[in-house]
Amino acid sequence: MSEDSETPRVSEQASGEQSEPRAHETADVLVVGSGIAGLAAALAAAREGQNVVVATKATRPEGASSWWAQGGIAVARDHPEQFKEDIVAASDGTADPDAVEVLVENANDAVRDVLVETLDVEFDEATSDGDEDFDFTREAAHSEDRILHVDASTGKHIHVPFLNYLDDHDAVEIRDDTAALDLIRHEGRIHGAMLESDGEYAPIYAGATVLATGGIGDLFPHSTNPKGSTGDGIAMAALAGADIEDMEFVQFHPTAYASDDPEDAFLVSEAVRGEGALLRNGEGERFMPDYHADAELAPRDVVARAVASERRATGEVILDVSPLDFAGEFPGLVEKCEDRGVDWETGIPVAPAEHFLCGGVDVDDRGQTSLDRLYAVGECARTGVHGANRLASTSLLEGLVWGLRAGADAAGNDPEVIEAPDLLERDPDLPDDFARQKFLRLRRVMDEYVGLERDPADLNRALGVLRRLKGEVDAYVRTRTARSLYELRNASVTALLVTRHALDNDESVGTHHVVDTSPDSGTAEPEPQADD
Ligand SMILES: Cc1cc2nc3c(=O)[nH]c(=O)nc-3n(C[C@H](O)[C@H](O)[C@H](O)COP(=O)(O)OP(=O)(O)OC[C@H]3O[C@@H](n4cnc5c(N)ncnc54)[C@H](O)[C@@H]3O)c2cc1C
Repeated sequence: MSEDSETPRVSEQASGEQSEPRAHETADVLVVGSGIAGLAAALAAAREGQNVVVATKATRPEGASSWWAQGGIAVARDHPEQFKEDIVAASDGTADPDAVEVLVENANDAVRDVLVETLDVEFDEATSDGDEDFDFTREAAHSEDRILHVDASTGKHIHVPFLNYLDDHDAVEIRDDTAALDLIRHEGRIHGAMLESDGEYAPIYAGATVLATGGIGDLFPHSTNPKGSTGDGIAMAALAGADIEDMEFVQFHPTAYASDDPEDAFLVSEAVRGEGALLRNGEGERFMPDYHADAELAPRDVVARAVASERRATGEVILDVSPLDFAGEFPGLVEKCEDRGVDWETGIPVAPAEHFLCGGVDVDDRGQTSLDRLYAVGECARTGVHGANRLASTSLLEGLVWGLRAGADAAGNDPEVIEAPDLLERDPDLPDDFARQKFLRLRRVMDEYVGLERDPADLNRALGVLRRLKGEVDAYVRTRTARSLYELRNASVTALLVTRHALDNDESVGTHHVVDTSPDSGTAEPEPQADD
């Protein structure tokens, strides 16, 4: 990374006057985000001899969804065709076969090369038959045992070694607590981003920029994602003019711990139902056989809607873990329950929570977006692999495979220094609570109108409220440069994209479920007020 003090004008200071010219930096490749996808891109670019800066909002590994992954990472083993069929079937036939081909044909090599040989991840092994091999497991909708895992906490066993490995890499610099606020664009080409750290902001110019900013959990009151999942990469790309696709396909996990305090939420893995746990409503009745032949192991979206419906009708849903040795098999979940005072022996209260976005910034098979020198990988990208619904344990793999391909492809461009956007500090009067209050409003609208079931009338209501909200936020963003404000702007842009795409698709498919829109269907609700 080189420092350069002869810089274009880049920002203003709090006085509202133009600031002193500010030092800027360059990098061969700028990666935004330090989850598995960003780290894979950084590794691949470094292997090509590039200097890489990884800017990440995270202050700890837990700031990325990658750390939280439980079940594991799927590989093709010796049956790639079966794996492809499972992915396409889970997507309701909507996955792009070319993208699925790229994922599956690269799966074994990418996992062996990076996770096993480079990072020494110690996946659980099966030794019972004397033939030492990995302990492959299976999750719903997989037709064979193909998921590599470490206990039921695979994410951290991949993520932490990955961060450590790149921390020690001479060509890679990971900057924690550093947010990308906006992309630097000139005539359809992206030249880097404006970075903010500790209240200071400055441009970094890059030969190529890779967005790897993860999911959109913060748009909803209940999510399994870590805080800060505000869709930044998608919003920045959209505002720069990149193509965005499939935003209506938001996957909700059916069994997150139901708590009034979103900070307490945690995921109760599908594997618990796989081992025999049963869903019971507030009257103690097992209800899933009434909804689907596969009962508790029905597709995620079916289970999620059933849980929501039974909660509405009977007040609560619990996961009855008495049929299995819960303490023996899921000690990590037992600990989480006990930390929160949940008596798991009488059942864990559960509710659906936003979990994964299938759509995002539209990319090709190397992660290239529709804008020159801009790539997107991982959950913020739409590769076509997931279509309308995601097969379990394929997102770590998608982040790894596309991260490697994008990082290699991004190599070889010289950074160009151009005029960066002005970020302003003119209005000191922004109320302290502004972003928090607006976020509450945004989440309420998304929860009520753009959640598990979508009625076009509700979506139109949401659109109205979100447009007003974005207008208010834009007015402040034009005068203030605060990370929380940019996150709010990004969340409102992303929420509008989800809502618009949901309105544009009147067919129920995969995670997108359109409900009865007739005037007497009883689904319509009063329009929220401006300050709702
Ligand atoms: C609880 C849970 C369990 C899961 N289990 C599995 C599983 O078993 N198997 C599986 O395949 N998938 C699983 N998933 C999904 C999977 O973990 C994610 O889809 C995947 O890890 C996303 O990786 P990513 O690199 O795209 O994003 P993330 O890992 O979320 O990383 C995003 C990064 O971007 C940073 N960032 C965001 N905005 C900015 C910005 N403006 N500037 C700078 N940095 C920014 C964040 O701080 C973070 O470092 C699970 C997800 C959750 C939440």
